[in-house]
Amino acid sequence: MFLGELLQPVNRLKGIGPNHHKSLSALGIFTIGQLLSHFPVRYEDHQSDKTILQAAGIEAVNTQMTIVGKESFSWKGRPTLKLLVEDDSASGSLLCYGRNFLGGKLLTGTQIYIYGQFQYRFGEWQCGAFEFEIVSDCPEKYGKILPLYPLGGSLNQNVLRKAIQQGIREYTPGLKEELPEILKAQYGWPDRLSALKNIHNPGSPQEAEQARDYFIYEELFHLQTAVGRNAVKQRQINRTDKIRLPRKLEKKLKSTLPFSLTSDQEKVLDEIVSDLEGNRGMNRLIQGDVGSGKTLVAFLAALNVIEGGRQAALMAPTELLARQHADNASRLLTPLGITIAYLSGNTQGEGRRHLLTQLKEGNIQFVVGTHALFSEDVQYRELGLAVIDEQHRFGVAQRQMLAKKGHCVDLLYMTATPIPRTLAMTAFGDLDVSTIKTMPPGRKTIETHLTREGNEEKVYTFVLNELNKGRQAYFVYPLIEKSEKLDLKDAENMFEQLQKTFPDHALALIHSRIPDEEKKERMERFSKGNVDLLVATSVVEVGVDVPNATIMVIEHAERFGLSALHQLRGRVGRSEKQSYAFLIYSNNLTEEGKQRLRVMMENSDGFVIAEEDLKLRGPGEIAGVRQSGYMKFRIADMIRDSDVLLKARQDVMSILEKDPDLKSPEFSLLRELWESAPPFSETLIRTG
Ligand code: ADP
Ligand code: MG
Repeated sequence: MFLGELLQPVNRLKGIGPNHHKSLSALGIFTIGQLLSHFPVRYEDHQSDKTILQAAGIEAVNTQMTIVGKESFSWKGRPTLKLLVEDDSASGSLLCYGRNFLGGKLLTGTQIYIYGQFQYRFGEWQCGAFEFEIVSDCPEKYGKILPLYPLGGSLNQNVLRKAIQQGIREYTPGLKEELPEILKAQYGWPDRLSALKNIHNPGSPQEAEQARDYFIYEELFHLQTAVGRNAVKQRQINRTDKIRLPRKLEKKLKSTLPFSLTSDQEKVLDEIVSDLEGNRGMNRLIQGDVGSGKTLVAFLAALNVIEGGRQAALMAPTELLARQHADNASRLLTPLGITIAYLSGNTQGEGRRHLLTQLKEGNIQFVVGTHALFSEDVQYRELGLAVIDEQHRFGVAQRQMLAKKGHCVDLLYMTATPIPRTLAMTAFGDLDVSTIKTMPPGRKTIETHLTREGNEEKVYTFVLNELNKGRQAYFVYPLIEKSEKLDLKDAENMFEQLQKTFPDHALALIHSRIPDEEKKERMERFSKGNVDLLVATSVVEVGVDVPNATIMVIEHAERFGLSALHQLRGRVGRSEKQSYAFLIYSNNLTEEGKQRLRVMMENSDGFVIAEEDLKLRGPGEIAGVRQSGYMKFRIADMIRDSDVLLKARQDVMSILEKDPDLKSPEFSLLRELWESAPPFSETLIRTG
């Protein structure tokens, strides 16, 4: 049987009573198979002998000692036992904090194995935290490499070690392999049962390492198999014929623009068009910094689909963004004779009914909206392209639901949050990635200043000066209104206050509690230049595009994550005019907060910032991956093991090219594995 087929409950094992059972459940461990896949994070080396002098101050002492006497010292006003010991190298003492009872057990002359850190203090080698075993008691730890498992609740290492060893002894004989023989031979992997034994109870550090490498590879191999099979399936059901697109509307729009596309935009558009012309469905992500011109490329792609007689949809995560895209689309595309509609949850009643009919009959060629685009009652005549903006804001399921509104819908995602290649390839299915690296010409780097709280006046004076030149500014706050718990400035109160600071200018306030219509109206006034200063929360984060706004002031900047800061700053610097960002920070700043602000100050490249973000936060948080529940790896780590991931991917792809359905005998075990004990849940993987 496969390990995943060991479905017996963990409390069959000795030592797993109701408390431990509950603690294991909380870790997601219910079956013996799952317990045996609970791998150690590290090991404790009780194998190589290290005397006091050998280990001195560097690592744990692990050796045989003799008790040579005992003394007492005062600790917290209580007499406390001190055992005098000797090993081959030196003498020392064991400080038995709260363990005076050891005096009765460890009599002078007793031979013990000691594991613990010794330090030279008060003229002697001392150890205050130690584990010991009596030599004549048949020791279980000395001489071994001991696994250290992730714990939770009532669990401790001893309980897990014992339960896992019993599980392996009693349940795993006959365990099946999970990798094809050719690969095992190629990499020199051990058989799976040995690897399992070695990872839990290695005979040497090398054995442990090899077993870990094996399971990391195996896990990534399985992941890539899932992703790859899906991609193959998805692409098999696609169009049969290649086509050639005339690209007439595309040319027409380009000729009306007051600028030409950057070479990166052209390159990405060509990649998209060749997907659209090809006979496998498109599943492509455009990454590019805010303002790099992704949306325009998406519009041009949509034109090609519309020209071919099909419909296009663009979905954005918020009402505000969707509106803005709809406005831009109608400004650019309506003159070409394209019919455009806007649909959100707020489109109701007769208007909605009419719109839905038009959509179903194909009279609307391009629909822009929020997640309302995939509501139950929305039907398309022939949806050919779905563009999804800021895709990480949507769950996997939501993206799929839009794709299901048509047959062979080509999918195009846009993101200003760069994601590492390895994540793109796996977490989001078999994604192709296009990158727009260059900004439209003439853009200047945004001058970024860090300002300590208390020095706001200087910033305000600077802002006033710019406003007087006819420029516009954003002021962003972490809170909508005053909070009892947090001593932070909020948008509502600062709106009042800034009106006094800038009495001759028009201010507006927007945040998520302001009704959509009102928000839209205020945004419009700002974008038309009737409002000079917009006070906001992070609702202005993505997509808002007002080229005349050249100043971004973020107060309590330390409250925002790197990607939010980068997005916010990207609201300015959207024309040839010099723009400025002021990050005002509080006096009580954490080390990590300081780091973040420094990164912002020193970098303007979104990809670099994303990488720094990854370093500061770790991969789980990136791109909403954790939220999708996708990254529950047992042992692999997408970032650390990205080389292995790429190898596993190649191996899987060459298998699937030969044998997409895993029908040949050499892969029969793999097929059987996916049928009877799938290593990854299919529903999580079907991301396309
Ligand atoms: P993104 O979606 O990447 O944030 P947009 O497509 O919204 O970027 O473009 C930002 C702004 O730059 C828009 O006003 C757009 O019209 C303009 N723009 C796009 N491409 C170019 C270009 N090649 N040259 C000059 N301006 C451009
Ligand atoms: Mg955008």
